[in-house]
This record gives sequence, C-alpha cells and structure tokens, in this order.
Amino acid sequence: MDYQRILAEINSEISPSQFNGKVAAYIPELANVPADQFGMHICCLQGGNYAIGAQTTPFSIQSISKVFSLTLALLYEGTALWERVDVEPSGDPFNSLVQLEYENGIPRNPLINAGALVISDILVSHLKDPKKDYLAFIRKIAGNPDIDFNLKVAASEKKWGYRNSALINLMKSFGNIKNDIEEVLDFYFHKCSIEMSCQALAQTFLLYANRGCLLDSHEKILSPTQTKRINAIMQTCGFYDEAGEFSFRVGLPGKSGVGGGIAAIHPGKYSVVVWSPKLNPKGNSSMGMAALELLTTKSGLSIF
Ligand code: GLU
Repeated sequence: MDYQRILAEINSEISPSQFNGKVAAYIPELANVPADQFGMHICCLQGGNYAIGAQTTPFSIQSISKVFSLTLALLYEGTALWERVDVEPSGDPFNSLVQLEYENGIPRNPLINAGALVISDILVSHLKDPKKDYLAFIRKIAGNPDIDFNLKVAASEKKWGYRNSALINLMKSFGNIKNDIEEVLDFYFHKCSIEMSCQALAQTFLLYANRGCLLDSHEKILSPTQTKRINAIMQTCGFYDEAGEFSFRVGLPGKSGVGGGIAAIHPGKYSVVVWSPKLNPKGNSSMGMAALELLTTKSGLSIF
C-alpha cells in the first residue's frame, strides 16, 4: 500500500481553511492554539513511517490520554475495574452529568470524563507518585523520554474545571470515588495536559495495533484479550456522542481529544494520528475525521 501517496492526495484535496469549527475555548490555554494547522502520521507494524504537514508539532492530547490511563488501570485492577465503570457508549457529550444520576454514579465507559475520573481515582490508589509514575509509563510505551505535561494547560483546566468537579462530587456521593477529590482532579488535569506530536502518538498507539506488545523490544504490556477490550471500547466509545458516525465514516477503533487530535489503529497493520485543532460541534476534529475517512476509503482498508 502506497501510504505516502495517499497522504499526499489527502493533503492536496483538503485543507484546514475549508473546515468550520472552533478550537476548544472552555480551556482558555487551548484557545491560543492557531486553528489552521494539520498533521498526520502513519506507523506501520511491518516497518515504515509516512507523514504529512505539522506532524512533529506537539499538541495537547487531552482525552486521548484516557486510553493510556485505562491501559494502566487495567494492568493494576484487572477485571474488577468493570465493577466501577461500564463499557457502553454514552450517546451523551463527554462531560455530561445526566446519565450518572440515573445510573448511580457508575460511568457509562472509561473514555468519557466521568469514566476517566474513576480511572484516575483507581490510579491514585495504586501509584506511589501518580503524576510521575503515569508519565514514566507513557514514556515507556512511547519509547520517548521527552514526553511531558504542559503545566499551563493543566492549570488552565483546573481553574475552569467546574464540570469535572461536579462529575467527581456526584460520583463521590455514590461512593465511586475513594480518594480525595482535589488529588484525583489534579491528577486528571495533568493527564489531559500531556503534549505529543502526531509522530510520537502514532508510535505509542502501535501497542494497540500489535496485540499489546511493544514493537521494538517485543515486551508484552497487555494480553491479546486486554488489547481486544481496549480496542473495542475505542471503537464504541472513543468519539463522544459521535462514535457511530466515526465508525460509519472511518471504520477504525480510535480516540479523539479536544486538542484536535485523533489516534486510530488498524489491528495488525498500522497506527495513525491526525491533528487539526478546529472541532466540530461534538468536539471531534473536523478535518481529522475527514482525513481519516479519506485514508480508509482510498486504501480500501478498514476493520470492516
Ligand atoms: N481535559 C478535557 C476535559 O476534561 C478533556 C476533554 C476531551 O478531550 O474530551 O474536559
């Protein structure tokens, strides 16, 4: 498959200025990011990296980080994890409070904010130094010691984090948060503030395309079953209340973030990351979705 040719075609057929949408302004620090940017990077399991645009520019990975925290929590907690968070698509916005009240403080899935807050609580219970240990885990699976938090973004989210505070307080009232709320929120905001480029993120997502093994060292991080679970949750829950639309148009498991990034995988074949900061009304990168739709259409390859 000539991925570089496909990427060049995508680059010539669409551009950020054609897309409507706004950068996420509810986190003021993210509103400063220039909107008309685009980068894309594909890492193939059989070797080969293909890229276009601003693929080495670091951006705020935001909710894409929820995949890594789910991974680490699954390693510590095993199947007991599913007693505290469900695996159903929410059909609601990522920061919705509505279902939580009906469903007794059990979030619909680990990739919406409520679910990721429970996962953060689980990690705070297990990790000695949560921020440091979490970063070390990401650096390890990324094979990249330079990955770091953006402390300005973390502070900006903390200052304006009223909804996340509401979610965690509600869950605490149902007994589904065990640790101090402020500590869990601080950890959660730092996780969301991690910056990575398309290139670094695609490299990291190879883990999920490669049945849970690191490509270079062959170290097994997740079992094939755990990898299957995470990929299934990405497929059904990775795009807020637009997971159906993403499956319909793109047909790959993946996860988006309000920083404008989308990471996706084709199991056994490749990982791909696209970044373009303008978001559609559901919070997904408008151009990112279009670029990935073109990739799977032009290559004729999706998991379906
Ligand atoms: N840090 C963001 C929040 O909690 C993450 C949102 C996202 O990327 O979905 O609102």
